Amino acid sequence: MKLALHWQILIGLILGVAFGIIFPTSFKITDQSISELRDKSVPENVIQEVILLKSNVAKTLSEFKKDIRKKLDTEIIDTYGTTILRAAKYNPYLKYVGWMGELFMRALKMIIVPLILTSIISGVANIGNAENLGRLGGKTILYYLTTSTLAILTGLFFVNIIKPGIGIDIGLSAAAETLNIKKVPFSDTLMNIVPTNIFESFSRGHMLSIIFFSVLFGYFITQVADKHRLTMTNFFNSAFEVMMQFTNFIIKFTPIGIFGIVAVVGAEQSELWQLAKSMGAYMLTVLASLAFHSIVSLPLILKYGFNTNPWAHFKAMQAALLTAFSTSSSGATLSLTMSSVKENCGVSNKISSFTLPLGATVNMDGTALYELVAVFFIAQAYGIELNFMETTIVVATALLASIGAAGIPMAGLVMITVILTAVGLPLEGVGLILAVDRILDMFRTSVNVWSDSCGAVIIAKSEGEYLKV
Ligand code: ASP
Repeated sequence: MKLALHWQILIGLILGVAFGIIFPTSFKITDQSISELRDKSVPENVIQEVILLKSNVAKTLSEFKKDIRKKLDTEIIDTYGTTILRAAKYNPYLKYVGWMGELFMRALKMIIVPLILTSIISGVANIGNAENLGRLGGKTILYYLTTSTLAILTGLFFVNIIKPGIGIDIGLSAAAETLNIKKVPFSDTLMNIVPTNIFESFSRGHMLSIIFFSVLFGYFITQVADKHRLTMTNFFNSAFEVMMQFTNFIIKFTPIGIFGIVAVVGAEQSELWQLAKSMGAYMLTVLASLAFHSIVSLPLILKYGFNTNPWAHFKAMQAALLTAFSTSSSGATLSLTMSSVKENCGVSNKISSFTLPLGATVNMDGTALYELVAVFFIAQAYGIELNFMETTIVVATALLASIGAAGIPMAGLVMITVILTAVGLPLEGVGLILAVDRILDMFRTSVNVWSDSCGAVIIAKSEGEYLKV
């Protein structure tokens, strides 16, 4: 008997964690680190200083950081800290397994754009007319806004009960040097939805623009003469079938890919227990809020609003949820989400291929909740009370930030800066939460995908579809 995919993935995940624990990444400056710095065009005077740090002893992250803080100028650390840290990563064992994860991620990324393009165009073309499209689009957006707001309010509740930031040592925020904070004005994100060159959007993977273009393209297919409409609809239906077949092939490699990914991420979390001690309350707040939203709120909506069995739905989604957890990317998980929702839940092509690609990009309950908790945590750590008005702004911008965040690892972290700017909190606050972000990303991405899948089921039911869950 063949083991079900989610079991295979779980085994890959556990083996990956075991590998990471047995062979943790450490830090030391070697000849290779120096040549890496040269490749990155780090100035020679800085390199000369770094060369003095060369040693045979590999250190843990905190030891290494202490070391460079003692021996290098603050100015050098501020500008090249991240680059030096990256170049100093030392783990001779990862090369044997890391390629599996990398190859798998490349394959997933390879299919995202054609999958979104063909699925949305065929989905919208099959929806038929403007009235149906408007109704489905309206329901989808209503679902996304409602559940994301609910998630944010859940986070608001927990962060005000637990108050994880009170009494935190903000000296920790020196770690901010490892993040290249880029400010992305939200107005730009909105403007960029309309691409100037759709091929550029394809090649750069600008999902919102690709979705915008595909929805319109699909819609105009329904507006042309029958001869053309049928040719185009058939073409995109067939192209989508091919892409799904292609996807199913790549999905077979998920367990091996996940083993590789988790081994690499796991190897870098050697200090997690130590961090968990200082950041425990914060992690607990995020996890408790995520758990409440996904185990209580969404299942209640499924069960009492739409007569769906949440447990059966969860079982149908296991492989996709484990993949979301391991890859921390809703975009990369999209192919699995689509195949699980279609094959295991029985949602029609028409609805899954319209709602899921959209959901993977704009519907991020986990991220929205995380943004709010993180911002309150930072405010609490800096001893800043947010009044009602500021809280409202944080809630609204957290919602916008979750919509604007890309479905890739750690995208949510960068978006936090948008909210901090909106309410005038110190941007360096991001440094406080940096170290545990990658771990929390795994959980919030799973919640993002879980909510997308609940949305597809709810919308299908509201359209009168008969499902297996
Ligand atoms: N990694 C998340 C996702 O892909 C986005 C985030 O960083 O919150 O869904």
